[in-house]
Amino acid sequence: MHIVVDQLTKTYGRQKAVDNISFRVRPGEILGFLGPNGAGKTTTMKAITGLFSFDAGTIHIGDKSITSQGDQVKRHIGYLPEDHALYTEMPVIDYLKFIAEIEDIEPARISERVGEIIQITGLQDEKHKQIGELSKGYQQRVGLAQALIHDPEVLILDEPTTGLDPNQIVEIRELIKSIGREKTVILSSHILAEVEATCDRIMIINNGQIVADGTAKELQDRARGKYLMNVGIAGADADAVYNALKNLPQVEMVDFADKQQMLFEVRSVDQNSPAKEIFDMCVAHAWYITRMTPQETRLEDVFRQLTMN
Ligand code: ATP
Repeated sequence: MHIVVDQLTKTYGRQKAVDNISFRVRPGEILGFLGPNGAGKTTTMKAITGLFSFDAGTIHIGDKSITSQGDQVKRHIGYLPEDHALYTEMPVIDYLKFIAEIEDIEPARISERVGEIIQITGLQDEKHKQIGELSKGYQQRVGLAQALIHDPEVLILDEPTTGLDPNQIVEIRELIKSIGREKTVILSSHILAEVEATCDRIMIINNGQIVADGTAKELQDRARGKYLMNVGIAGADADAVYNALKNLPQVEMVDFADKQQMLFEVRSVDQNSPAKEIFDMCVAHAWYITRMTPQETRLEDVFRQLTMN
């Protein structure tokens, strides 16, 4: 099912939490919301799940409006809230059976479905424990299990890997990725590496507005503008190499990255690599290249550029 958000605005008093944002997510796509604290991620996610009314705009899940046809569409949505309240005194298995009933799963299918979801979320060894006795990571898995139990077509996950250890993060990421092949998924995170690893597309939100939307690669390319590379050249005096590099028409700027080691940082005049010119220059002088690596614009740099107010 598609998610179509059109000109959504939500205000709290005079604070515009979400300011006229529009986007679509298609089935089989995992969209990552990235943004600093207070950017409007949770507000947008809650609006999509139909948890509250908003001031302006429309949200459609498939062809149904979340506002006027919410009853028909909410059962297709699985939601993992940021601060999910679990019944800590209930054993995991009873809690999931209870959620399955609330989600209108046929009584005859409940045990089987709870068994499946326990398997999928790796809760097999914990299923008889009270939720309050579980570690934070396992509680997070219970949260995911409750979001998935009715096999929803749309999944909204607010910071799904919070509190997980690095191994669990990888497992949950893989789980979300495999689920995401068939469903429409939006997740939020503060962890750049996480959205980069899990999501097909990233939307950076700042002050309630979308400031970037694309694949990690597209966002990096857009932010980079100029081609940057690290070059190591040996067989000559460092200053001679520096001057020769500086005189290449394709090179806009040269810096010593490590003068002793004859390492240079080179910025091209445009998005194209000056590798060929540097190679020809070295051949002409009988110098040799010890290193030539493009410098990646990290998603972290893109994020900072777009969200520093
Ligand atoms: P975080 O990463 O910290 O969870 P977020 O991007 O999810 O942040 P939101 O929780 O959507 O951000 O908040 C957006 C803005 O709306 C913030 O300025 C916040 O203070 C405000 N806000 C959110 N919920 C409420 C509320 N119930 N009452 C008043 N203001 C609110």
